[in-house]
Amino acid sequence: MFLFAGFLLNPAVIIAEDSYPSSVILFIGDGMGLEQIYFGQLVEYGLVDTSSILSFPYNTTVSTINLEGTTTDSAAAATAISTGVKTLNGRIATNWNAEMDLTTILEIAQQNGYATGLVATCHLTHATPAAFAAHDSSRGHYQAIAEDFSQANVSVMLGGGYGESYIGNYISDFVDQGYEYIMNRTALESVTNTPVLGLFASGSQPPLHTMLENSTIPTLSEMTIKAIDLLNATNQPFFLMVEGSQIDWAGHDNDQIYLAHQIIEFEKAVRYVKTLAEQNSDWQVLVTADHETGGFSVEDYSFQTGIPLETDSFTEKQAKRTARAQEIEVDWSTLGHTNTRIILAGMGPYTEQIQNAVHHVDTFSIMRQAIDGEIEPVESGYYTGFLPIYVRYLIGLSSAAIIGSASYLIMKRIIKNRKRKT
Ligand SMILES: [Zn+2]
Repeated sequence: MFLFAGFLLNPAVIIAEDSYPSSVILFIGDGMGLEQIYFGQLVEYGLVDTSSILSFPYNTTVSTINLEGTTTDSAAAATAISTGVKTLNGRIATNWNAEMDLTTILEIAQQNGYATGLVATCHLTHATPAAFAAHDSSRGHYQAIAEDFSQANVSVMLGGGYGESYIGNYISDFVDQGYEYIMNRTALESVTNTPVLGLFASGSQPPLHTMLENSTIPTLSEMTIKAIDLLNATNQPFFLMVEGSQIDWAGHDNDQIYLAHQIIEFEKAVRYVKTLAEQNSDWQVLVTADHETGGFSVEDYSFQTGIPLETDSFTEKQAKRTARAQEIEVDWSTLGHTNTRIILAGMGPYTEQIQNAVHHVDTFSIMRQAIDGEIEPVESGYYTGFLPIYVRYLIGLSSAAIIGSASYLIMKRIIKNRKRKT
């Protein structure tokens, strides 16, 4: 009876079958800790509703540590998620010494006949989207990453970065391959074919709380809705990665107003796809983060402003979100990233395995199963490169020991000689 009631509450649990190929939609909230999700829920829904991110049939928390066992950056974290292999900070889908390109989940999807998409509010050459369709020793090599993108055959790419420091120099390569290149919200609304490259800002998109209703720049949820429409229309299974890129930047700034608008917009995109997935039992939807940023926590709240209503205008909603964000007392412990465990939640094929996930690399395995039924990364194992690093530490330790004892012996002799002289 108990179980039966559970099934009624979660129709996805009863109808989802573990079969492949299934479409995979992966949401990554950059810098999104559990408290950030809760904060967004308080601002947007108060006690009326739960964040869609916290309402999936399966959820757990996973570790984000990089290959060295230290705090990750977005590049190493995105590589762990996209390839199933832990690496060093800064690497874009390459192993620890950057000698091996690691096959990404987007590339595996393409090899299996999938249409693919990347959506973000940063410039697309930024670490998280880069780690799905480029390979480089460093996240800072934007031109090399843009060149990789221009050869990656991604069906839908939407975000920022038409400036020459980012993708600007490669736009003609995309157009030559038949991409429709669009630069504003109106063009995004009317586009109907893939492949499409939509770059809506020179660099990253401006922070949402500074944008006006009639902005020429689409929001994350508008880009997500369009990407799903376009990918669905290909009649192929598809892989889509959507990043809430600036949750991280709000964390680095310790700015709760910036954070509120970013996390709420990300949640709206998740909510839209989750609702669709309830009608598409063969879609795998996953939501995770790459790491937490800011050591953020909600301390207390006392609201004077009501929650944003469906009937409110864009500007009214924006003002309410800003006011409510300030009515919450929060605490930040750092301007950087933390090792706090982050959420992995989902629905659809193979997502019951979320319950056994312990690290980012398991997210890769869950996605890969939905694409070709395999679990392992294409390259050799989760800990590719771990041994050389271990050996490197041992060499470091023994050199320190040798230098240390040699200096001790020399000092001893000098002191002895001095004593003789006196
Ligand atoms: Zn960051």
